[in-house]
Amino acid sequence: MEERNARVFLDVSDGSVAMTEHAVVIAGGGPAGMMLAAELALAKVDVAVVERRPNHVLAGSRAGGFHSRTIEVLDQRGVADRFLAEGQVAQAAMFGTTVLDMSDFPTRHPYSLGIWQNQIERIMAAWIAELPVRISYGCEVTGFAQDDTGVDVRLSDGESLRARYLVGCDGGRSLIRKAAGIEFPGWDPTKSNLIAEVEMTEEPPRGIRHDATGIHGLHRMEDGRTVRVVVTEQQLGPSSEPTLRNLSEALITVYGTDFGIHNPTWISRFTDMTRQAAAYRVGRVLLAGDAAHVHYPAGGQGLSLGVQDALNLGWKLAQVVNGTSPESLLDTYQDERHPVAARALKHTMAQTALQRRDERIKALVDVVSELASMDEPRKRLAGIISGLDVHYDLGEGHPLLGRRMPDLDLITADGPLRLFELLHDARPLLLNLGQPGDFDITPWADRVQLIDASCKGEWELPVLGVVSAPTAVLIRPDGYVAWVGDANHLGLPDALATWFGPPTAA
Ligand SMILES: Cc1cc2nc3c(=O)[nH]c(=O)nc-3n(C[C@H](O)[C@H](O)[C@H](O)COP(=O)(O)OP(=O)(O)OC[C@H]3O[C@@H](n4cnc5c(N)ncnc54)[C@H](O)[C@@H]3O)c2cc1C
Repeated sequence: MEERNARVFLDVSDGSVAMTEHAVVIAGGGPAGMMLAAELALAKVDVAVVERRPNHVLAGSRAGGFHSRTIEVLDQRGVADRFLAEGQVAQAAMFGTTVLDMSDFPTRHPYSLGIWQNQIERIMAAWIAELPVRISYGCEVTGFAQDDTGVDVRLSDGESLRARYLVGCDGGRSLIRKAAGIEFPGWDPTKSNLIAEVEMTEEPPRGIRHDATGIHGLHRMEDGRTVRVVVTEQQLGPSSEPTLRNLSEALITVYGTDFGIHNPTWISRFTDMTRQAAAYRVGRVLLAGDAAHVHYPAGGQGLSLGVQDALNLGWKLAQVVNGTSPESLLDTYQDERHPVAARALKHTMAQTALQRRDERIKALVDVVSELASMDEPRKRLAGIISGLDVHYDLGEGHPLLGRRMPDLDLITADGPLRLFELLHDARPLLLNLGQPGDFDITPWADRVQLIDASCKGEWELPVLGVVSAPTAVLIRPDGYVAWVGDANHLGLPDALATWFGPPTAA
């Protein structure tokens, strides 16, 4: 069993290097890094985050929110209300320029949440501060060396950390990915946008504008003073940092004026470069979030993908570190998450193409809009953008297998509760909806909760519709179904051992 508290020891080879040891070190404290830290801390794993920024504050507003499954994921941990209280729910899942109304989806959160990334990160930072997570701000990972038992992580302050595992959540330009020699195949950028927060002497027009170059938008922020600008550049911009002058020129080209921009608090550039790491793990080094996949922000899925990578990896890494499961469990992280991001990348490229508005593309936009407003395609696309349709390939069986567990209203011996409440501690769960006392999972009782309950109503899944009601369900800590029971309990011991380690001897 891994020691929970960090240990400081002297590297006796030269007698001088003070090295702190953690079970897991995470490079990068953005949304993916913070989510992973929370998952590990909930599983009682000693985790340290190293973040380059001096604190959690983000220079600009960046992402504009997240979609339904991410709200559910946060709900599974009991913290969704913190985000819902600060954001605005809206039908904002889009494909190209078509809004995909998902208000009829069977979830407690059939909408997206509009909330700026700097607010998201503030709330996440406050959450992980309540958990046993060590975070070192103002410090950068500069390199690492891995061996059979762990990873030496070099830091910009000259210190080193020793970890059993290192996870690169260090964004699209990931040093961890590069230093691990992981290939990042995909597509070079073809277009770029400037994004900024500035003040303007003239009143800007509101809303989104499309032209042959792409999408442009001006949005007055909540403070009433700052305007968020997103403008597509006429040519692909250089990789150097953009200036106020670049922004002025880009605005004049599109709008004929720069609206008297001044006092920028943030100017940045993003492109439609689309790439995905060929491997999510090399030995004791793993990747999650933008470090593993980058794409144009059309559809607003990047942050959600990273949070869900972390959700998938967290409990698996915890079980390996805690000695509950063999290292091979980590292979399922790439098996499950790589296809999800690959699909998102494909859809993002399609959406990016739909943002250009010459007459030919406009014809395509019209065709796609017409199709996307029909019931079946709308549900299909909304399932993808919202993340509610994610299906991990866990073999043949009931439609629930490998899909998200719905947040049922349960009646238990302790009274009524929502299923997601049983996942707050990130522990696996065997939910028995048949005869109480039907199951005996004593050899796994130290790891898996067993709850006898009943629930009423039909079982309906997003996109798929109504499915037959199971008599029992084995739910992983990430909320995905690992086994579905019927009249007999065939396959349960195998599923328990596969996902939650071998049985404990009596
Ligand atoms: C304009 C725009 C709009 C977007 N809109 C949306 C949206 O609406 N919805 C959505 O889901 N996504 C959106 N995204 C995407 C989203 O912002 C990213 O996908 C998300 O931030 C990725 O999170 P991450 O934690 O993987 O990486 P990052 O947020 O990039 O975090 C990486 C962290 O690692 C730190 N770091 C880097 N290198 C090191 C190092 N060597 N050592 C220590 N620390 C390091 C960085 O300081 C940073 O804090 C948008 C992006 C842009 C640009």
